[in-house]
Amino acid sequence: MDAKQNHIAIVGGGTAGWLAALMLQKAAGPTGPRISVIESPNIPTVGVGEGSTSVFRQVLLDLGIDETDFIRETGATLKFGIKHAGWRKDGKDYFGPIDDPNALSPAPAGIPSNWLHHLQLAAGKKVADSHLFTGLMRASKSAYTQKDGRLIPLSPYHHAYHFDQARLGRYLTSRASDVDHILTEVEGLRRDPQTGHICALHCTEGQEIAVDFVVDCTGFRRAVIGQLDSTWVSYADMLPLNKAMPFWLEHDPKGDIAPYTLAQAMGSGWMWGIPVQDRMGCGYVFSDAHIDPDTAKREVEAKLRRPIEVRRIIDISPGRLSRAWVGNCLAVGLAQSFLEPLEATSIHGTLVQMLLLLRNSPDGLAEGAARDLNDSYNRTVARQVDDFAQFINLHYAGGRTDTPFWRDMTTNGISASQRDRIVEWQNQPITRADFDTLPGGLPHVEEQLYTPVLDGLDLLKKAPSKKVFATTLAKSDARKSLAGLKAEFASAARKAIPHTAYLQSCRGGG
Ligand SMILES: Cc1cc2nc3c(=O)[nH]c(=O)nc-3n(C[C@H](O)[C@H](O)[C@H](O)COP(=O)(O)OP(=O)(O)OC[C@H]3O[C@@H](n4cnc5c(N)ncnc54)[C@H](O)[C@@H]3O)c2cc1C
Repeated sequence: MDAKQNHIAIVGGGTAGWLAALMLQKAAGPTGPRISVIESPNIPTVGVGEGSTSVFRQVLLDLGIDETDFIRETGATLKFGIKHAGWRKDGKDYFGPIDDPNALSPAPAGIPSNWLHHLQLAAGKKVADSHLFTGLMRASKSAYTQKDGRLIPLSPYHHAYHFDQARLGRYLTSRASDVDHILTEVEGLRRDPQTGHICALHCTEGQEIAVDFVVDCTGFRRAVIGQLDSTWVSYADMLPLNKAMPFWLEHDPKGDIAPYTLAQAMGSGWMWGIPVQDRMGCGYVFSDAHIDPDTAKREVEAKLRRPIEVRRIIDISPGRLSRAWVGNCLAVGLAQSFLEPLEATSIHGTLVQMLLLLRNSPDGLAEGAARDLNDSYNRTVARQVDDFAQFINLHYAGGRTDTPFWRDMTTNGISASQRDRIVEWQNQPITRADFDTLPGGLPHVEEQLYTPVLDGLDLLKKAPSKKVFATTLAKSDARKSLAGLKAEFASAARKAIPHTAYLQSCRGGG
C-alpha cells in the first residue's frame, strides 16, 4: 500500500491530541502517512493543565519551535520546579528543583552517580541547595543573561513551563500545517470481524472515516478505547483526591512572577498556584470523603483572605488503562491515565508515550499492532504511570496529623512499597540502582526527583550518605566538584535577568 494512503486518525483536539499530531507529523515527514485530528466542535477540552516538566521543552526544541515565540504566543512563564508549602508536620516549606547537579559532575568509579546530593546530606545540608534552579526560584530569576541584546542561556539544564491551556492549544494547532483538521464527533466504530482492528470511524451525520491506526485523545470520555478490551486500574487507595476546583487570581501588580509552581497543602488535599503571564491559575484538589465543595471554597478563601470565583468542579479518578494500546488503537493523554496535578505528570506522560511509540516508524504502526508490538509497549507505559503514582503518594509522607484527611494519609495512606523504601533509605543510600529505568533512557522518575522530595519531607538521615564516601579521596573529589558547581551556580544566578523582565523581553517589551 502506498504510504500516503495510510491514515493515522487522532481523535481529540486537546493538548494531547495536538502534541501527538505534531510529533507524528515530524516523524512521518512529507512522504509519510496521512495524519488527521478529528475534534468534536461540541465537546470542550479539559481547560486546565498548565504546568509541564522539562521534557516538554526538549520536545518543543525538537519540533523546531522557537522558545521566545512560544512564550509570547501562549502567555507561558518559566518553571524551575515546585515550592511545596505545608506538607511537613512542622509546617516548613521546601523546594523541588527539576535540574540535576549530579548530571554535570560524573562520579568516580564505584561511587553512586548522585554523589553530590549525598555530600549535601552527609554534611546535614539541604539537597535542594545544591541546585542552580533553587537559586533561580528563590530570586525569581530567568534561565538567561543578556549580552548585546541577545539572550544567553546560563546552563545546559532544560527548564519547564507554565502556560494557558487554551492558548497552547491554538498555538499547537497553528504549527500542524500538514495535519488535516476534521470537525466532527466520533459516535461509533466499524471493526474488522477477523482481527478486531478499527477500519472506520462513524461520525456525526452518517460520515464514515476510513482509518489504519487511531490515537484516542478524547480525554476522560475515552470515546474509542472505551469500546475496546482495556479496563481501568484505579489508584484510589493511594491517591484519594477525587475533585478539583479551579479558579483564577490576578497577579499582584507590584510583585514578581514566580518561576515555580506553588503546591500548598490544605486541610483535605492541596492547592496549586501556577503563574502564567496575565494571571495565576489556581485550584484546590481535595478528597470529597473529607470535605464538601462549599467548605473547600471557604477554606481557600480563608487561606487567601479574599473571595474566589470557582470555575467548575472537575471529577477526577486517579488511575490508568490496563492496556494503552489495543489492536490498532492507542490511548494517550487523559484518555490513558490521570493521577492528580502534583508534579505535572500528565502532559509528561503523553510525551513519553509518544516518544516510546515513535521508536516505530509511523508507517509501520498498523503492522506493529499486528506483530504485537503493543504488549511490550503496554508494559512500559503501565510501569511509567505506576512509578509516578508511587512518587506522588510519597509526597503525603510528611507525617501531618492535624486534620482527618492528614491523619488518614499518615496512618493508612502511604503505600506499603513506599513505606518499605523510606525505611530502606534511612539505612542505605538512595541510588539510581533503586529504580527501574525506561527503555532507551527515556526520561523517568528516579533518584534525581525523589531525593529533593525525601529530603524536603525530612525523611533522610546523614549516616547512609556518609557511607557513600568510604574513601576520603571520593569525598575530597565530591567537595571540589560541589564547591566549584555551587560557585558557578551562584554567579549564574547573579547574572540571570529577572523572570518578569525576561517575559517582557519575549513580548517585545525590551
Ligand atoms: C484539575 C487538573 C489539573 C491539571 N494540571 C495539570 C498540570 O499542571 N500539568 C499537566 O501536565 N497536566 C495537568 N492536567 C492534565 C492535562 O490537563 C491534560 O493532560 C492535557 O490537557 C491533555 O488533555 P487531553 O488532550 O487528553 O484531553 P482534553 O483536553 O479533555 O481534550 C479532549 C478532546 O477530545 C475531543 N473529543 C472528546 N470526545 C470526542 C468524540 N467522541 N469525537 C471527537 N472528539 C472528541 C474534545 O473535543 C477535545 O478536543 C490537569 C488535569 C486536571 C483535571
